[in-house]
Amino acid sequence: MEKIRTRYAPSPTGKMHVGNLRSALYEFLIAKHAGGDFMLRIEDTDQERFVDGAIEIIYRTMAKTGLVHDEGPDKDGGYGPYVQSERMKTGIYMKYAKELIDKGEAYYCFCDRERLASLKTEVVEGKEIRIYDKHCLGLSIEEVQDYLNAGRPFVIRQNIPNEGSTTFHDELYGDITVENSELDDMILIKSDGFPTYNFANVVDDHTMNITHVVRGNEYLSSSPKYVRLYEAFGWQVPVYIHLPLITDENHKKLAKRSGHASFEDLLEQGFVTEAIINYIALLGWSPEDNREIFSLRELIENFDYRRISKSPAVFDIVKLRWMNGEYIKAMDFDVFYEMAEPYLRLALPGNFDLKKIAAMVKTRVEVFTDIADMVDFFREMPVYDVAMYNHKKMKTDTVSSLEVLREVLPILEVQENYSNDALYQVLSGYVERKGCKNGFVMWPVRTAVSGKQMTPAGATEIMEILGKEESLRRIRKGIEMLQNA
Ligand code: GLU
Repeated sequence: MEKIRTRYAPSPTGKMHVGNLRSALYEFLIAKHAGGDFMLRIEDTDQERFVDGAIEIIYRTMAKTGLVHDEGPDKDGGYGPYVQSERMKTGIYMKYAKELIDKGEAYYCFCDRERLASLKTEVVEGKEIRIYDKHCLGLSIEEVQDYLNAGRPFVIRQNIPNEGSTTFHDELYGDITVENSELDDMILIKSDGFPTYNFANVVDDHTMNITHVVRGNEYLSSSPKYVRLYEAFGWQVPVYIHLPLITDENHKKLAKRSGHASFEDLLEQGFVTEAIINYIALLGWSPEDNREIFSLRELIENFDYRRISKSPAVFDIVKLRWMNGEYIKAMDFDVFYEMAEPYLRLALPGNFDLKKIAAMVKTRVEVFTDIADMVDFFREMPVYDVAMYNHKKMKTDTVSSLEVLREVLPILEVQENYSNDALYQVLSGYVERKGCKNGFVMWPVRTAVSGKQMTPAGATEIMEILGKEESLRRIRKGIEMLQNA
């Protein structure tokens, strides 16, 4: 069997969005699942859309996510160059375009802007497009030669007959047939000499021996034109796998402007790489048993592209947050601490036992940026409402809480050891003497020392971090508030 070869072929036009990363990931997984090769090719033929720094983002992202390519601009595997602008300099695209002209499958077009603008428009798939009227196909060989000799600007177009139909096969969508009359004579070589993406992808995928082409389904409608090119050359058509659309929660196409759509934005928002990759793998693919947590290695083992779905995949940030939380829970504490420390330091400048606080929040954090909100109260007592002392289940209210706080205050004032264990013992002693439930005491104390409904730890753990002086200050403040209530 021939070795599977896939490629990730990004255009360096900006950030690496979730959709780009999914294409890269699926291509990587399809190759690696079958022991094949995964290649990186930079598609920079559209020089106007080129963005400085975009190539670095691609390298950075692939290295960080572990999508290691076997071949690419930085790793020659014998199929280079791997950057389209460099391939162009070898003359490869022009050579193949001319071969198509010789075969009658393409032709020179000298129409200027005005003439093109005067062509009538048609609506195809909801989009208004101008279908080229094949005007230049009617030029004689001599006319073409004269124009070329005169240095007139030209493009080269694919010649698609008006009659008949073209069929191609997609692994997920099956056989798709379109009427040739719906296919325009697309430009293969632009007037600046660069190939279009539409032409370069075919020439490159063939000459680089790509066996499986994986890309977004926005390319589905152009694929018949690509297939016609393969057939015109007499080349084997690759296996096509068009991926489903990714939408936002409102089922709208995932907008690039929405902050969470790029990999590096997600990192900045406190997500971890492994969770992002795991989540993105499930945007359109699912294993047989509906399992959800996969390392990259496990994805390689389990990824069967036949299980990719055709239905749009919803990018659900809530689900990603949940998954991220699962990764954080499963992390070694040291790894977690290393990642959490900058967030903790920012939220709690000064003298805090950050390790202890990290241990408190580890099982509760979904994304690292949650940390600040969770621990802020250690630094500064939030303004809170005395209504927070009312807790049905604990059977507490402002009156009972005032009583409890007044009674525990002198006990805590004489207490020297402010470790969690010692404080817990002291308060438990009080609970026993009073003959009440634990929560009846712990709820008001925790409320007084934290001012928060939800805290990452119990009353005595919080007091251990705060220390005696600050704990007492907060309890006295609570008493004062309750008295005035
Ligand atoms: N350069 C194209 C893009 O970034 C690649 C599409 C493909 O994979 O063929 O959308």
